[in-house]
Amino acid sequence: MSVVTRFAPSPTGYLHVGGARTALYSWLYAKSQGGKFVLRIEDTDVERSTEQAKQAILDGMKWLGLEHDEGPYYQTERFDKYNQYIDKLLEQGLAYRCYMKSDELDKIREEQEKRGEKPRYPGTWRDRTDYPENEAFAIRFKNPKEGEVVFKDHVRGEIRISNTELDDLVIRRSDGTPTYNFCVVIDDWEMGITHVVRGEDHINNTPRQINILKALGAPVPEYAHVSMILGDDGKKLSKRHGAVSVMQYRDDGFLPQAVLNYLVRLGWSHGDQEIFSVDEMIDLFSLDHISKSASAFNTEKLIWLNQHYIKTLPASEVAEHAKWHFDEQKIDVRNGPALEDVIKVQAERVDTLKELAEISRYFYEDFEEFDANAAKKHLRPVAKECLVAVRDALNEVGEWNSANIQNAINNTAEKLGLGMGKVGMPLRVAATGSGNSPSLDVTLVLLKQSKVAQRIDKAIEFIEKRENS
Ligand code: GLU
Repeated sequence: MSVVTRFAPSPTGYLHVGGARTALYSWLYAKSQGGKFVLRIEDTDVERSTEQAKQAILDGMKWLGLEHDEGPYYQTERFDKYNQYIDKLLEQGLAYRCYMKSDELDKIREEQEKRGEKPRYPGTWRDRTDYPENEAFAIRFKNPKEGEVVFKDHVRGEIRISNTELDDLVIRRSDGTPTYNFCVVIDDWEMGITHVVRGEDHINNTPRQINILKALGAPVPEYAHVSMILGDDGKKLSKRHGAVSVMQYRDDGFLPQAVLNYLVRLGWSHGDQEIFSVDEMIDLFSLDHISKSASAFNTEKLIWLNQHYIKTLPASEVAEHAKWHFDEQKIDVRNGPALEDVIKVQAERVDTLKELAEISRYFYEDFEEFDANAAKKHLRPVAKECLVAVRDALNEVGEWNSANIQNAINNTAEKLGLGMGKVGMPLRVAATGSGNSPSLDVTLVLLKQSKVAQRIDKAIEFIEKRENS
């Protein structure tokens, strides 16, 4: 049997962390089995579905690299199909017209609740044929009255629900539109879905969907219902806990590799292993190792993973994602060293790509002002002599490489009879604008000889102005 899985989001908001994890598990399972992954947009709730949300979901999936093999399908484009199946069930006596008005049903439910019963449709129209004329009706599915639905959930084990617990579900509303549970059933069948991976909030729908599948003579897929994600305070993860939209993580400077690695571990494990490349995830993933208990979101761990990937992925790969942040911060990377080279020297110093761009601006742009604290401390009159000497020494450097630069700095310090720091710190502030940078030799290599000389001159001018004021 070849495996087909799907991700079936309702486009009523962004692709959030929970949805992304479900999508990842579903995608991983398909990939691990050499199967197919289908993307289906469940937009039947036309009031709440928006174009923007559809696009946000597609963007999020693309950014994470969870490419689909089929789709995206849109349920609103498939209404005719659903209705044809409903007509067939009607013909076969497996569904029926229900003329009960909603206020009548509300009253019944109220009374049931008063008696402490579970509110449910009592099957009033199940066997009636005395249809009133010119009145709107819904179509209900004739749920079996006897027996039970049994299925083996990959996460939760065997689940049994007695059919007496289930009432006859509306499958077509009186306005002619098919309902959510019915569309899912038809789609899972027609799209050949063999494994349904979804949130545990859908577990109550599963027995109903299985009954409809059986009535249609369709095969029943296997199921894996994934538990909830909680915030670090133990409450259901929501906007209050910071970013929940996947694209917010991009905006905050996370790499998709880090987010994927974070998400895969949020409810799935393979021994004590924490770091998984995507290929490794595909190799090792199995539905049977998904955890039953809710998982708590831990931002620290996500940051730790992000740091890990910034440091260890090939700089060219990091650069592809970092470029977005430089653009976002209006830093034109054509005006300076290759982004990869900057990443190599800065990777150790940052948690996020956003920070990376922030602290790398001086490679691409002249700064207006020196950092006030650094200037106060290091661009004092005594530093002027050092800066003049080191500028001249650096101007003499033939091949502009880190060994030669280091030599020039060392020789200057020696000549002036000063410690390295006394020369190095003013030079650092002159070249980068602040007291924080990677080691001077590599920083200066990337800045280029003429730029360094120009910036040292600016620092000397700054000191002179200060002397005269
Ligand atoms: N459309 C549903 C949701 O967004 C998912 C349904 C399913 O996976 O069966 O929650």
